[in-house]
Amino acid sequence: MIIGVPKESFPGERRVALVPAVVPTLKKAGHDVLVEAGAGAGAMFPDAAYVEKGARLASSRAEVFASADAVVQVLGHGANDKTGRADLPLLRRDQILIGFLRPLAVPETVQEIAVTGATAFAVEFVPRITRAQNMDALSAMTTVAGYKAVLLAADVLPRMFPMLMTAAGTILPARVLIVGAGVAGLQAIATARRLGAVVSAYDIRPATKEEVRSLGARFVELPLEAADAQDKGGYAKAQDEAFYQRQRELLARVVAESDVVITTAVVPGKKAPVLITKEMVAGMAPGSVIVDMAAERGGNCELTRAYETVVEHGVTIIGAVNLAGSLPHHASQMYARNITALFLHLVRSGAPALDVADEITRETLVTRGGEVVHPRVRDALKLPPLEAPDPQARP
Ligand code: NAD
Repeated sequence: MIIGVPKESFPGERRVALVPAVVPTLKKAGHDVLVEAGAGAGAMFPDAAYVEKGARLASSRAEVFASADAVVQVLGHGANDKTGRADLPLLRRDQILIGFLRPLAVPETVQEIAVTGATAFAVEFVPRITRAQNMDALSAMTTVAGYKAVLLAADVLPRMFPMLMTAAGTILPARVLIVGAGVAGLQAIATARRLGAVVSAYDIRPATKEEVRSLGARFVELPLEAADAQDKGGYAKAQDEAFYQRQRELLARVVAESDVVITTAVVPGKKAPVLITKEMVAGMAPGSVIVDMAAERGGNCELTRAYETVVEHGVTIIGAVNLAGSLPHHASQMYARNITALFLHLVRSGAPALDVADEITRETLVTRGGEVVHPRVRDALKLPPLEAPDPQARP
């Protein structure tokens, strides 16, 4: 197959879906890679590096879409709410499309992709199972974001992170609180620790306690028991408002004692819970910083504005969105490995004919043959369920 890599078109996006290093892997598996000229430039992967590894260059976006059997993107239509729609007329029936599509947040855009007849896969839906770990782009991007969130906080904080004992006196270490110890939170803990901060963390899933401690942070014990904290996939379950109210009361003191708070608490498919109220912000020392990594999902802090940095009561609140995009080189390297593994898996399991008996294929497939085929996306669109698919059906 010819795998096409268009330049990302979301304004300011510097990542690229494939990097030169994965081209030989794809070529060895019998595929060709066609890269739009300049696609990797923002991530420091020049055209010449792709050519050296055996890729071909296309002079235009239209050429990539017209020639490719499979188009791979970072932000596809849906995830790219600025310019993604312009790609729709370029897609054709049975053409494979792989990328972030935000299928549950904006399901109507999945329907628009379906109309083109393309066979689209949403990388957000890669199941969190052991054999799909190397395809889990969401975890990869979240890891990068967790690291960057700490750097943003350190940059704005008027204090240093590490403890220093100098001739000019002793500097006390910064106190960092991480709320939500999933992929982003654990990376934030590790990064803040490397910078020398004293780190505490809290998560409603008791299973995170050991992970937090193993990274050298203190687990904040709250006398608060979530009835049913975790689903069988390992994700947090939504709690009722009384629980969140109690959590806010108990967290208030820890928040007030922290110089930096990084929040990552989300519940799949739900608006992020508000865990830091404006009163709690007012209780923090002036100069403190909150980085709200749940900003795009409504925010964990009541005062967060997504994409913006606001200062309230002397506290800087960063509405962090797309932090992975701000480290395009390594984010692209990780994404490219994930996408290559996913693509090769789909091909091994029969693409362009698709083995929907395979969990990874079935879970990531969102459109095929002009239809939205993913049950959860159909549900979000209020479409009736499709009849059980034929496991070996061609797209
Ligand atoms: P996420 O991004 O959905 O949520 C971030 C964290 O916020 C979670 O740890 C969650 O428990 C926490 N949270 C939710 N509500 C909260 C509240 N009210 N207070 C405090 N914390 C709250 O989570 P994630 O990082 O995607 O990870 C979720 C799970 O998936 C974990 O069990 C993780 O180990 C697992 N996982 C598995 C794989 C794999 O097997 N391939 C890959 C990645 C993640």
